[in-house]
Amino acid sequence: MLRIIYKNDFLPVKLKFSTMRKYECKACGWIYDETIGDPDGGIPSCTPFDELGPTWVCPGCGLGKEAFEEVF
Ligand SMILES: [Zn+2]
Repeated sequence: MLRIIYKNDFLPVKLKFSTMRKYECKACGWIYDETIGDPDGGIPSCTPFDELGPTWVCPGCGLGKEAFEEVF
């Protein structure tokens, strides 16, 4: 009997939480938290701010990424 063995190649879980950052919109105060993403905008959690597309805008006021500054 031929037995097919499927190899499970799970992607390693990315433990990125320690490097997750927050950015605040200077126009309206909306916070982009990388651990949360922007669910309403279709951005999944753990999406780095840098990886947001150029068409992404602040959900609060509609300005682009240039309106945001990192929160320390
Ligand atoms: Zn804003």
